Amino acid sequence: MTVNLLELDLEGLSGFCDQLGEKRYRATQLFRWIHQRGASNFEQMSDLARSLREKLKSRAHIAGMRVISQHESVDGTIKWLFDVGGGNAVESVFIPEEDRGTLCVSSQAGCAVGCRFCSTGHQGFSRNLTTGEIVAQLWFAEHFLRQRLATQRRVISNVVMMGMGEPLQNYSALLPALRVMLDDHAYGLSRRRVTVSTSGVVPMIDRLAVDCPVALAVSLHAPNDLLRDSLVPLNRKYPIAELLETCARYLTRAPRDFITLEYCMLQGVNDQPEHARQLIDLVRGNAKSKGLRCKVNLIPFNPFPASGLLRSPAAVVAAFAGILGDAGIVTTVRKTRGDDIDAACGQLAGDIQDRTRVDERMAQQRTFMMQPVQQR
Ligand code: SAH
Ligand code: SF4
Repeated sequence: MTVNLLELDLEGLSGFCDQLGEKRYRATQLFRWIHQRGASNFEQMSDLARSLREKLKSRAHIAGMRVISQHESVDGTIKWLFDVGGGNAVESVFIPEEDRGTLCVSSQAGCAVGCRFCSTGHQGFSRNLTTGEIVAQLWFAEHFLRQRLATQRRVISNVVMMGMGEPLQNYSALLPALRVMLDDHAYGLSRRRVTVSTSGVVPMIDRLAVDCPVALAVSLHAPNDLLRDSLVPLNRKYPIAELLETCARYLTRAPRDFITLEYCMLQGVNDQPEHARQLIDLVRGNAKSKGLRCKVNLIPFNPFPASGLLRSPAAVVAAFAGILGDAGIVTTVRKTRGDDIDAACGQLAGDIQDRTRVDERMAQQRTFMMQPVQQR
């Protein structure tokens, strides 16, 4: 078996070059060919000696994942479904905006946390992605987009680990993948433009702070433990007070001076004025918590049948945002993008046990999602 070089960060690639008896600077050259130029075979690497290219061919390969499908939204959002074998697939979504291009990346096939409002959570957990499978999403998307736009310039400026899976439950694969994203010889993204989103794996937030402090988003979704226990089951292990204390510690190392709190608006469940007031107490600090510098991002819920939940009406979201805003908490309402291709948050569904019927099933899902939604 040869090594897939997408699995390695620069440190790993240097170790690999050592093993081949090659100088370490060769690793930088290789790394740049792979990630900056999108090379997938060694013959392209014209500045490497023929003997080295031959050696590489016998010991290594560069392989992305097979693209099962690509869907484009009228708003420019593109969603790819990648085959990860064993009947599983994961999704990545590219979201173009005026001043940036964001790629939403998956970290696991399925997810073990099992949040009530998340379709990935409803699928259960299949397996962790490897570093190479996480990196391959960016590698593919970046070079696909450059080719399409006929540019050498970087297209993807931001990465959010908000696709399928809980990134901090796949920490050992995530960490080298983040390093590849940040490395100047690869994608050169700044720490502020790479966001790890987590449902609150407390000990791993502390580790991330030490190992690779990138921007952090925490999926809060509820202002008290009773409610959060029922929406995000991980809360029973790491309750809100502990989570917010960990976030405050993270801030001492974070590249930004705030944590993003994500809050998915579920009609009649967590969207009432009382919830907003509880949230204000939490982040300002009260008897139970010390408070936290944060921004709140309200996410309109993207419904799917098995959840039995509904999206909060736009007026309710606006009222909730108003209460937080009046208390001086910076609050944004996320625009849903890619609705028409099922690419919005929480709609990513990668179980393709029956491959022959994927397109048919996707068409069905689309029909469901095309029903009127209140907030765009
Ligand atoms: N597991 C991580 C990252 C992936 S989920 C996490 O939970 O943070 C990315 C974001 O999408 C999270 O904030 C999650 O709560 C949100 N989300 C999940 N399902 C959703 C849905 N059906 N509608 C809107 N947002 C959803
Ligand atoms: Fe997993 Fe995040 Fe979905 Fe919860 S919201 S089930 S943690 S992917």
